Amino acid sequence: MSKPDFLPFTRPTLDEATIQGVVEVLRSGWITSGPQVKAFEAAVSSMLGGRPVRAFNSGTGTMEVALRIMGVGPGDEVITTPLSWVATSNVVLAVGARPVFVDIDPVTRNIDLSRIEAAITPRTKALLPVDLAGLPVDRERLYAIARRHKLRVLEDAAQSFGSRYGGELVGAGGDLVSFSFHPNKNVTSIEGGCLVLNDGREAQLAEQYRLQGVVRSGFDGMEVEVAGGKFNLTDVAARVGLGQLPHLQAFNGRRTQLSQLYFREFAARDAAGSGLGLPMPDFTHSNWHMFQVMLPGERLTIPRAAVMEQMHAAGIGTGVHYPAIHLFALYRAQGWNPGDFPHAEYAGRNILTLPLFPSMQEADVTRVVETLMRILAAARR
Ligand SMILES: *Cc1c(COP(=O)(O)O)cnc(C)c1O
Repeated sequence: MSKPDFLPFTRPTLDEATIQGVVEVLRSGWITSGPQVKAFEAAVSSMLGGRPVRAFNSGTGTMEVALRIMGVGPGDEVITTPLSWVATSNVVLAVGARPVFVDIDPVTRNIDLSRIEAAITPRTKALLPVDLAGLPVDRERLYAIARRHKLRVLEDAAQSFGSRYGGELVGAGGDLVSFSFHPNKNVTSIEGGCLVLNDGREAQLAEQYRLQGVVRSGFDGMEVEVAGGKFNLTDVAARVGLGQLPHLQAFNGRRTQLSQLYFREFAARDAAGSGLGLPMPDFTHSNWHMFQVMLPGERLTIPRAAVMEQMHAAGIGTGVHYPAIHLFALYRAQGWNPGDFPHAEYAGRNILTLPLFPSMQEADVTRVVETLMRILAAARR
């Protein structure tokens, strides 16, 4: 039997029509923001019930602009989760505000909604939850808290494009909603993101903050009212995104199937008995952006890095999403300490992302589970 190819933890699926479409854009004479960006925004908007949508060159830029639109700045606090890609809290610092962390719920691995109100102060301006691995935060409870305390919400839905809550897609409702189209996300525009807004005034502000604050009128009119940045998406990238959207449902369906197979394979090998933690088996809301297990660190003779190394040696890629943000030097320097958020810290040390992407085969899932369970059995205390 030949050695199987290396299995990465994720990989984008791009069809030939999209590649041809990109070639056409490259030959068209207009390659930066233009008609493809407008078409991409319109397509996402129509998916989300017609809410205004504006595209950006990254999910990070999208969130930074969202905070500026909400008027978050120096002196303000934004409540968020310590278990996320560090972009989530970095953007709060970028606008001069202070991220205030609240521990995660160890079952959902998302911000623990029951702990948010204790973290609200007179300076709190917004809530910034994350749908980790595509599992949506409970929107009803989230918005009940926001309404009670008159707070804005920026949903970091970078990982939950195509996830559902209350029968509708994430982004179809809510306050400001930010998506990312990084290549690791469920659909990609290479790099990119988009913001779902409430009205035309916010959409106009998004356009201003996106490109140097410029507002044009007539043939030669130009005005600048706000200090905007440089966050515009290119037409080349937008064409990639447009080619991905028709596949979203099939991609997410395939991710769901493969995740269900992960659960069956783990159950068949008594993963629970070995102390391995599995994600919430949610098959109504999540887009299964990632399949993440929790290693039983205290029961193993080897660290997570050694598990990853042995998986890698067996031809299997894994990832860590994510180390707890408040333990990074930048955040410790702002007063956060080890022990502040035990559940996020435990996850930060023990969480492991297994391969999951639409072009993966069933046999790949079986091989991942067999390999991981063999490594864990050999490393039992
Ligand atoms: C990917 C991601 C982002 C940022 O997206 P970029 O497009 O890489 O800038 C933000 N938050 C979360 C939770 C993400 O997964």
